[in-house]
Amino acid sequence: MTKVIDHYRPSVCKLSRQELLERLSAALSAKRFAHVQRVEQVAIKLAQQYDVDIQKASVAGLCHDYAKQRPDKDFIKVIKAKHLSASLLDYGNAIWHGLVGAEMVKDELGIYDEDILNAIRQHTVGDAYMTPLAQIIYMADYIEPARSFAGVDQARQLVQKDLGAGVAYQTKHTLQYLIENNQPVYPQTLVTYNAWVPKYGKELN
Ligand code: GDP
Ligand code: FE
Ligand code: FE
Repeated sequence: MTKVIDHYRPSVCKLSRQELLERLSAALSAKRFAHVQRVEQVAIKLAQQYDVDIQKASVAGLCHDYAKQRPDKDFIKVIKAKHLSASLLDYGNAIWHGLVGAEMVKDELGIYDEDILNAIRQHTVGDAYMTPLAQIIYMADYIEPARSFAGVDQARQLVQKDLGAGVAYQTKHTLQYLIENNQPVYPQTLVTYNAWVPKYGKELN
């Protein structure tokens, strides 16, 4: 297993896993660096179970929070330079680190695989259509072993049964949490809700 991901296929990532770890360790606090490595391990396991590319799961798991600790001004610069949706400017780091952070992963780490970049873009807010890889990263981030919120065990069980049901569960509970805490909801989060929650509703209660 580890052999498979010591060196990635060049189309997945030109850096070796060790080089990638060094770049991440420089960009992240020790705590967040440990988080992305746990997410990678869960993502690799799910990729094996659901027959998804293991190298892509490794790179996307490691890089999903690459931009999390960047100052706001870096995101604002990228939103403007790349002409990303101006409505992004109404939000903050929670939304930017995935949707805008993927651009930093591409430009700074040289990762061009669109499956990986989309999984990073979608890891916080989801989307109506998500590839199995994107579903895996969305769920691995939510259920990694250090997560301990109420409901995490149900999420872990659902993911074993049906990845899509897990996506629906997380989406429903995140929206519930945001509303209960009077937080702004990014419109794509509602798009994700409409695409996944009614479809899997029966399995969530
Ligand atoms: P992390 O980066 O590993 O901490 O995990 P995530 O990227 O999944 O989540 C980052 C934060 O974004 C969490 O606190 C979520 O509750 C929050 N979040 C998810 N969706 C939305 C949304 O639509 N609006 C806002 N304001 N926050 C959201
Ligand atoms: Fe994140
Ligand atoms: Fe994360």
